[in-house]
Formats: sequence, structure tokens, C-alpha cells
Amino acid sequence: MREGSQEKQWRDRAAAVIPGGMYGHQSTRLLPEDYPQFFSRAKGARLWDADGRELIDLMCAYGPNLMGYGDAAIDGAFMAQLAVGDTMTGPSPLIVELAERLVGLVTHADWALFCKNGGDATQMALMIARAHTRRSTVIFAKGAYHGAHPWCPTRSAGVTPGDKAHQIFCDYNDVASLEAAVAKAGDDLAAIFATPLKHDAFVDQASAELNYARRARELCDATGALLVVDDVRAGLRIARDCSWSKLGVQPDLSSWGKCLANGHPISALLGSDKARRAASAIYATGSFWFQAAPMAAALETLNRVTGTDYLEHMERLGLALRTGLATRASAAGLGFRQTGPVTMPLFLFEDDPDLRLGFAWCSQMLARGVYTHPWHNMFLCAAMTPDDIEMTLDAAEDSFTAIKTGRRVLEPNAKMSFLLA
Ligand SMILES: *Cc1c(COP(=O)(O)O)cnc(C)c1O
Repeated sequence: MREGSQEKQWRDRAAAVIPGGMYGHQSTRLLPEDYPQFFSRAKGARLWDADGRELIDLMCAYGPNLMGYGDAAIDGAFMAQLAVGDTMTGPSPLIVELAERLVGLVTHADWALFCKNGGDATQMALMIARAHTRRSTVIFAKGAYHGAHPWCPTRSAGVTPGDKAHQIFCDYNDVASLEAAVAKAGDDLAAIFATPLKHDAFVDQASAELNYARRARELCDATGALLVVDDVRAGLRIARDCSWSKLGVQPDLSSWGKCLANGHPISALLGSDKARRAASAIYATGSFWFQAAPMAAALETLNRVTGTDYLEHMERLGLALRTGLATRASAAGLGFRQTGPVTMPLFLFEDDPDLRLGFAWCSQMLARGVYTHPWHNMFLCAAMTPDDIEMTLDAAEDSFTAIKTGRRVLEPNAKMSFLLA
């Protein structure tokens, strides 16, 4: 960090008053040293760091930015509702309108519950499945992210074995291991959770295989358990419906969040009639869950989802980015893997077990004005333009050349040494 920079000053001040200097997924602890921790501004597809450096942002706030930062119509709807009533003694009628819109959009959904974070929605899914079945055991895929609650498979500090009780893990896309997990659950299976694709950190992404999705549905039907698709991350970036609708597989519950209101705080759990009774039986709430302004923003976001070609636009740009990067990486003689949907790319280098090449390339990209991530999937947004993709490809070409030349002198990556352990 440059002495005297705003970034350095804010980091020093944060170190005194914020444990660890920063926390959660937005901590730069596991990013290259030169990555900024603080940002001062965002507009469209661009970010400005605390020192005023402009960046093309391929992270999109880790998902919430779908239509562009500071979108005039969406933020306008938010502010108009804020001016007339947001947090009140009861909800605005907008909650009914929004539920109706989502029920109309998402094939499996007959009802909606609203909350704030994706983790609120996945937690409600867990509770509803247990209330519906009067059973406890839940199957997750190893390495899948469903939030930061103590029952979620994250770090162990502060978590008791009880928090993690009644969980069985299988391998994503592995039908035999899913069947074995169901057999192990015996007569206690409450739910099978699935992300719409394998979008785990540090590894290549993978689409859900049709036979895996279908088998999950069949096993839930056979046992009476509920099928939960956690669409918090991929929702509205693959389909204008639950992401598994493309496979023809309908879950009983789906969780939504991140981009649902283009950055405004709202998430949702959608469910089918089968789970309606259990959904009305659980106690789940929050002081801010009924805020009207984020609901107005969500309705405006959904207007864009249904009324524009935002998704096809992102897919065209994502494809141009993918093919352009592949050409440039191979011209530089580098093995560069791009996985996942083109609207949610993840980049990993061949022969790079501690991600030293990935870190070096991302640092080079950053120096050329493009924010990429070395081990997490990224996101495109609809505010991106063909020019942004061209600029990104130009930066990538130079960055490939730079790491190719400097490859032999790259130090082991201490931040990622745990990947080798
Ligand atoms: C981000 C995410 C969550 C948690 O959402 P928060 O808003 O961070 O609580 C849950 N599931 C998936 C798949 C996610 O990507």
C-alpha cells in the first residue's frame, strides 16, 4: 500500500476499530496485496477506489449489481418510495405486488416471503423443510456456499457441533453420492439443498447435470423431503425463472437475493403450495424485512428483467469476453481455464496450485484498470458495453504477456498456501 494514500490511511484507521481490519467476503485478506479495500464511488459497470482510481468492475459487488450501479430508474423507484414510507409499523401493499410478480415469473412459486440477506432466505428454507417434514437431516453438496449462519459450512470458530448437526454432504453432480447420502439419512430426510450450478470458490465451476437435478427431484418425491434450489447468486443471471427451470426440474423452495433489487437490501424465499402450511408455521422475521423502498426497487428491477434483453446482452458480452480471453491466453502460451456461465465467469490458470499466476495476472489487470478476482466467480452486469469488453481484453493481453515474462520469478503465494495443505 502506497504511503500517504487514502487507502493506506483508511486501512490503518480500520485496523484500530474493525476486528481484523475488515471481515467477511469483502475483506481483501485473501486477495493480492495491491487490491484496494475501500471504494468511494460506483456507477454503471465502474468502480472508483478510495484514491479515485477508476476500474471496470467484473465483481459487481459479489452479485448485487445486475443492471449497473446507480441505475436511474431503479434508484428513482427506491427514493420515491423512501420519501413516502419505508420502515413502518406494517408493510406497504408493495409486498403483495412484489410477491405476485415473483409468483408470476418463477414457475414453481406459489408464494413469497421477503427478508434481507440471502442467508435469511436459505435459513427459512431449512426451517420450512424441517417444519414440513417434521424431520431434521439436510443434504448439502461439499463446498457449496449457502450463507454465513453457523449451520453453513464455513469457518469453525464460534460454531458448535450442535450447530452442524443433522447434515450430510454429497459431491455435486455425483448421483451415486447423492443416493448414498439419502440412504444415510434414512427416514429423517427433510431437504436436499442444491446451488443451481457448482459455483464454489477456488475450483472450476460446473453446470448442474440433468441426471443429478432429476435424481434430486425424484429422491425428494420418494422420501417426502423438500428440494431447495439456492438461487441467491445465479438467480436472474442464467434465466428469468428459477435457474433449474432450464433443466425442467422444479424445486419446492428457491432462495433469492443479491441482485433482486439491483443492490438494494432485499432477498426472498419462493415456494410451492406443498410447503405453504409449513411456511406459515415457522417464526422468521426482522425489523427491516418489510421495508418498502427495496421492494419498489425490486419491482423496477423485475420490469427490466421482463421488459428488456438485459440477459441476452450480458450473454453476448460474456461470450465475447470468453472467446477473446481464450485467444489471448493461448497466444501467450498460457493454460487459462474459464468456467461457469459466460455471465458468471471464473478464471484459473493451469499448473497454478497456489494461485501465484492468478494473483499476478489479477494484479496486472488491476494496474490496467480492471477489477478481476483470482479465485471467486465474477459477474457481468447489463450496464457493460462492448467497449468495456474491448478494454478488458486489451488489459488482459498485456497482463498475459507480463506474467509470461515474469513467471520464473513469481514467489510462492503465502496467502494461498492452505490450498496446497
Ligand atoms: C451469497 C450467497 C448466499 C448468502 O447471501 P447473503 O446475502 O450473503 O446472506 C447464499 N447462497 C448463495 C448461493 C450465495 O451465493
